[in-house]
Amino acid sequence: MTTIPYKTYLSEAELPQAYYNVRADMKTDHRPLLHPETLQPVTVADLEPIFCRELAKQELNATDRFIPIPDEILQFYRMYRPSPLVRAYCLERELDTPAEIYYKYEGGNTSGSHKLNTAIAQAYYAKEQGLKGVTTETGAGQWGSALAMACAYFGLDLKVFMVRCSIEQKPYRKVLMETYGATVLPSPSNTTIAGRSFLADDPDSSGSLGMAISEAIEVSLADPNYRYTLGSVLNQVLLHQSIIGLETKAALDQLAVEADILIGCAGGGSNLGGLMAGFIGDKLKGGRGPHIIAVEPASCPTLTRGKFSYDYCDTGKVTPLAMMYTLGSGFVPAAGHAGGLRYHGMSPIISQLYHDGYIEEARSYGQKDVFAAAIRFARCEGLLPAPESAHAIKAAIDEAEKCKENGEKKVIVFGLTGMGSFDLSAYAAYNADLLENTGLEESSLRSSLAKLPVV
Ligand SMILES: *Cc1c(COP(=O)(O)O)cnc(C)c1O
Repeated sequence: MTTIPYKTYLSEAELPQAYYNVRADMKTDHRPLLHPETLQPVTVADLEPIFCRELAKQELNATDRFIPIPDEILQFYRMYRPSPLVRAYCLERELDTPAEIYYKYEGGNTSGSHKLNTAIAQAYYAKEQGLKGVTTETGAGQWGSALAMACAYFGLDLKVFMVRCSIEQKPYRKVLMETYGATVLPSPSNTTIAGRSFLADDPDSSGSLGMAISEAIEVSLADPNYRYTLGSVLNQVLLHQSIIGLETKAALDQLAVEADILIGCAGGGSNLGGLMAGFIGDKLKGGRGPHIIAVEPASCPTLTRGKFSYDYCDTGKVTPLAMMYTLGSGFVPAAGHAGGLRYHGMSPIISQLYHDGYIEEARSYGQKDVFAAAIRFARCEGLLPAPESAHAIKAAIDEAEKCKENGEKKVIVFGLTGMGSFDLSAYAAYNADLLENTGLEESSLRSSLAKLPVV
């Protein structure tokens, strides 16, 4: 019997050469994006003022199973990919579990998360189209940092609207973005019509991703040389993130290991969508595949308590409507620390696959329990995880403990999406016992859902 190494790296030559488009294999495609005024399915022409041309096409592409990765993007990937698949031997020992635990680590680049995988693709297509720059929003700051790196690499301007409470929690994220040449504005800001209207409603607003999106889109629409970019939720983002799952599957195949349980944290759904990309195709064709678990914060429980409904992707209601699990586009989550998971909606692809049972399970955890799992992991595996990633760790630990109770030797694979070096203020709050397992009041959920658009 061969011993499985701590780390498995594919060689550079084994780096995937094409993105996998799960829509080509979905039995039921997600319902189309709808134009916010006409309520008709959007066309590439509708999307082109917002996204650059190639990305607008990718957004609506439901037929091409594989989309080749351009050489310029592959060159950048080679600087930090393939990422390692790690066997968590030390965590297994700590848990005294018969389960085998693996994680795919995406935190090993300067931006510190998987978001660089799509940032570099989106910047490339914008550059190729001859644009001057792009705008975006960022919550916790990982996406803004990743896009700042990508824009610096291709020589594009970048304007980032950062959720106000995150700037206060994570000041060094702003410094990182500025170091890579980006302009960072706190959202809601008084520089846009949307921002001024949010401030008129609540001058002390802590901000939300939905508000920041409205501002970033407004600014990009005002200049024909700019386009808007988004770090999650969209089909194009899941497409680019498929590289995570393709690498994971190839590495497991080399080890002759089959995953029984696949776990990803879920904010907008992009890392989970990327991780499952190596596994879901067989399942959709009627074959075997791992039991898939999406994990979210109890304070922003989109899949576990939201409604499967058409909704706007932003608070200002300027984006197309998507059929997705949603808490309502006006929903502002409690100022918890899992910044990257605080979005009201969920990727339409993930939503449809969950609705149809191909993603079998979603669960939520309170932040205090999540940090306890993060610290348990950090102390034995060495890596300090991002709080978002720690949701997946918590689920992996729970599953491994179940295996111990039942004497089962399952293979658990989870996505470790990012590192936590920028999240020390959140760790400080946990260490000082200031965190609570904040949930979501049924009454505020109900009043938010009552405002869903009728389509
Ligand atoms: C943004 C982010 C997430 C959540 O976003 P998804 O689109 O659901 O993947 C998770 N982990 C980290 C580290 C992030 O930066």
